[in-house]
Amino acid sequence: MEKLIITVAPTGSLPKKEHNPHVPTTPQEIVECALRCEDLGASILHLHVRDKEQNPSDDPNLFMEVVEGLKGKSDLIIQISTGGRANATLESRVKRLNVPCEMASLTTGSVNFPNAVYENSPELVRKLAKAMKERGIKPEMEIFDTSMIPAAIELQQSGLADEPLHFDFVMGLKGAQPASIEQLVHLKNMLPPGSTWTVAGIGKAQLPMAVHSILMGGHVRVGLEDNIYYQKGVLASNEALVERIVRIAGEIGRSIATPGEARKILKLTRKNKGGEP
Ligand code: MG
Repeated sequence: MEKLIITVAPTGSLPKKEHNPHVPTTPQEIVECALRCEDLGASILHLHVRDKEQNPSDDPNLFMEVVEGLKGKSDLIIQISTGGRANATLESRVKRLNVPCEMASLTTGSVNFPNAVYENSPELVRKLAKAMKERGIKPEMEIFDTSMIPAAIELQQSGLADEPLHFDFVMGLKGAQPASIEQLVHLKNMLPPGSTWTVAGIGKAQLPMAVHSILMGGHVRVGLEDNIYYQKGVLASNEALVERIVRIAGEIGRSIATPGEARKILKLTRKNKGGEP
């Protein structure tokens, strides 16, 4: 089986230090945590940043601080979140893409979050896809519901995204698709041939969905963005979550991709570098 790509999502938009003291929130903390996770086996960093009050931030300078902090020390594939929390506008979501990165997340539809609508209109999705394409950034299609897969395929068919497509199945978020083997098989079967895919299980779904994905030939995303617990009542660290996946994959006989190997699996090229178009 193909080597396993581990994405670490260390920060996200929600957890603060009061919820889990291991959440890195300053650019320096994020850099240090990312380097440790890379040493343990992560090859992609899914990046959100926070302001001084630990609230999700849109500030491209904060994203840039992390990118600069990793420069020369890390081979991680940087994947900027274009998520819309923090009242982000289209302009601010596009602005982040001027930060050099090989990948960025792209949610191809709207969905209910537990307490809010995560709104991504067809127009906004197309504009974000176009902005990524202009900058040579490979989108990771964030799939919160089945309908988002045909929406991603349509972007490719209309020339706004290149094959092979890469997908992240977000599973077990209240309001969105359930975390079940049946749903995972269904999602996988909907993908165009040649696509790559990873799974981000939310909360207690993180571990079982990761294990299913390892067995099914998919890839894995872990981190405190999606799940702050290691097991019931025990807080996790990003490092421990990455380490556990490496250990389980090893037991199952699936070896771990380095960032260089992950680039080959994802068909990233030297054109995937982001920055100003
Ligand atoms: Mg995210």
